[in-house]
Amino acid sequence: MRSITILGATGSIGQNTLDVVSRHPGDFSVYALTANSQVGAMAELCLTYKPQFAVMGSKKVADELESALSGKVSTQVLYGEKALIDVSQSNEVDTVMAAIVGSAGLKPTLAAIDAGKTVLLANKEALVMSGQLFIDHANRSGAKILPVDSEHNAIFQCLPKEAQEQVGSMQLSEHGVDYLLLTGSGGPFRDLPVHELDKQTPKAACNHPNWSMGQKISVDSATMLNKGLEYIEARWLFNCSESELKVVIHPQSVIHSMVQFTDGSVLAQMGQPDMRTPIAHTLGYPERLRSGVGGLDFSTLNELTFKQPDYARYPCLKLAIQACWDGQWATTTLNAANEVAVQAFLEGHILFTDIAKVCDYSLQKTESVVADNLDVLAQLDAQSRRQASKWIKEYGVC
Ligand code: NAD
Ligand code: MG
Repeated sequence: MRSITILGATGSIGQNTLDVVSRHPGDFSVYALTANSQVGAMAELCLTYKPQFAVMGSKKVADELESALSGKVSTQVLYGEKALIDVSQSNEVDTVMAAIVGSAGLKPTLAAIDAGKTVLLANKEALVMSGQLFIDHANRSGAKILPVDSEHNAIFQCLPKEAQEQVGSMQLSEHGVDYLLLTGSGGPFRDLPVHELDKQTPKAACNHPNWSMGQKISVDSATMLNKGLEYIEARWLFNCSESELKVVIHPQSVIHSMVQFTDGSVLAQMGQPDMRTPIAHTLGYPERLRSGVGGLDFSTLNELTFKQPDYARYPCLKLAIQACWDGQWATTTLNAANEVAVQAFLEGHILFTDIAKVCDYSLQKTESVVADNLDVLAQLDAQSRRQASKWIKEYGVC
């Protein structure tokens, strides 16, 4: 029986994780569930999964949850960052699903890493924000990182076992790998004329053609900054150089990513676009678990197509690739500016095409510094948020 904490339990990844966990009642016990503010959804999860702890974002919502659960279940309700850290590093936990969205996930995910847990990593922003520091912490503690993001999970599955055991420090060339190919659908605006992009609404941006996901990652998929964050994520997980990492658009999302080997072979991981597959892979690793996802029906699958990303349509992708090789200061800055910009777009303060402008502005305004400790990372994050807010105040639509 493995004991699991799910950070971000009410989100899209959190709910899919619980769906897979509930298919294997003898294999997992749920130690803690966390959420920011969704009291109703969290109350339902606590009644179903009866965790020892539930962690909420503030005292107010924690009190509301406590009243909703009173007399029905013995779950202890906590709140705040320290509680998130406690349930991530408790001795009673083996496995932590890191599925908080954005930078709020960094500290609890690092706490799980420092405590040497098996960390199922969905929260790509945590790795983008902290890069080498994150990997160094894992190497020091012996924590096992298993990638949940479908592309990284696909690549992980295609790599030989010895490479799988060296996440963060493998040398791809020693395993016969020429390069990694990250696939991306191109998002909902893939075929729109570029001059119509500035008219796109949050609702349209969140309407992803293949995947059902949280709002932030849906907008990131529309700008393809999601692929940019994934590019940076892959750089750290697989210790890639620039020539070892490529991006290709694959609209059908059937191939979830590929590995090109030096003998000309390409290994791809395929399947339905359903996050329960990579989640089940990480929960069961190295064994396979039933995930509830059916097979691929090759009798109806009539085409798999590919094309190169166009940076005029996806300027955010270009910014991310550039930031990746500029250094940690740049990826931390980009991540923070993007979080502010996406929120402003969702709230109607800026246009869809302004997201790239906000990110670019914040990068331009930031000087290159060595960012190898949490204090510097926090300063860069805060400074970038200020720059992004300044741009939005000056040029935003309302
Ligand atoms: P979501 O918006 O559906 O859920 C986010 C979760 O984080 C919720 O439980 C929410 O309560 C919690 N949360 C939000 N802000 C918080 C804060 N300040 N403090 C504490 N908790 C907070 O997001 P999602 O789509 O499930 O994505 C979660 C993470 O997984 C993201 O980093 C995303 O990039 C990554 N990811 C998601 C998918 C997907 O299919 N949804 C695929 C790959 C990777
Ligand atoms: Mg992904």
